Amino acid sequence: RHFTKPLSRKEVLQEIHAEYDYSFKLLLIGDSGVGKSCLMLRFADGVYDKSINYTIGLDFKSRTIVLDGKRIKLQIWDTAGVERFHTISSSCYRGAHGIIVVYDVTNLESFKNVMKWLREIDRYACDDVNKILVGNKCHLTTQKVVEYATANELAENLGIPFLETSAKKATNVEQAFFKLAADIKARMEAVSG
Ligand code: GDP
Repeated sequence: RHFTKPLSRKEVLQEIHAEYDYSFKLLLIGDSGVGKSCLMLRFADGVYDKSINYTIGLDFKSRTIVLDGKRIKLQIWDTAGVERFHTISSSCYRGAHGIIVVYDVTNLESFKNVMKWLREIDRYACDDVNKILVGNKCHLTTQKVVEYATANELAENLGIPFLETSAKKATNVEQAFFKLAADIKARMEAVSG
């Protein structure tokens, strides 16, 4: 009878780190219908699929990006459907490195609720979690009710980055995820020295 030699600690670590240098867990948070699933699909799969809006439950996708020569695996969690119960269970925030807070530029209520989501993040997520504010559906200019300047001022007051995006037209979606990943990476590297 043969026993497979167990992997040494070094070998295990090598295997874990084989495909990437960092692995970050990102969350998409915001009111139902703002486009969280669409943003995740656009970023992870490069597609826009408007038939996905009845997803219920947590789903995630991953994509590995390269930043400053480092491979970073982004595991993106979409809270689609769960937010309809008005609160996302605290377990969902656990271990998140970065959070994308999304509102819809054509929906004032979803913008007003940004503060509510931020309070929830303060309550449940790690203190040092990185955040970015995203105003989605920005190409719908005639229906737009939340001005860029208004959201930008809020983000500046909160000290978080802000971008207007369109999952449909692929505007600023890459930029939003890359900015968040870069901020997390900078934080990690500041900690590790
Ligand atoms: P979620 O509930 O926040 O995950 O929102 P979904 O991703 O399911 O999107 C809700 C609805 O908004 C769907 O009908 C999408 O097709 C639509 N949607 C999402 N992003 C955009 C966008 O950039 N432009 C437009 N016009 N519609 C969008």
